[in-house]
Amino acid sequence: MGRPIKPRTVCSDIERTFVPEDGTSERVIRLTVEEYETIRLIDYAKLSQQACSDMMEVARTTVQAIYESARFKIADAFINQKTIVVKGGHYALCNHDAGVRHCLKNKKNRNKETDA
Ligand SMILES: [Zn+2]
Repeated sequence: MGRPIKPRTVCSDIERTFVPEDGTSERVIRLTVEEYETIRLIDYAKLSQQACSDMMEVARTTVQAIYESARFKIADAFINQKTIVVKGGHYALCNHDAGVRHCLKNKKNRNKETDA
């Protein structure tokens, strides 16, 4: 029996679906919540992979693997007009302090990063 996987810390348990505008594709790519979180923190908030791993409380190599998987899935969806469903995964909601930058518990960040 392997070691249990440590949950990845995320700032929101978002569920979201992105459908290509032509609406013809029924092919679905599922992005886990932690994959979405690496895109939010690295590509959108412009954190380094190390800073992202600190936020998510896992090793940098783990973040790198999650991020690469997320990037490929998004590319696949863009190129092949697939629907992206963000749902599920192996994560736990954060206990970051209120002042942590890019944490969605901080209302200012929430407005900027989820309602934009
Ligand atoms: Zn947080």
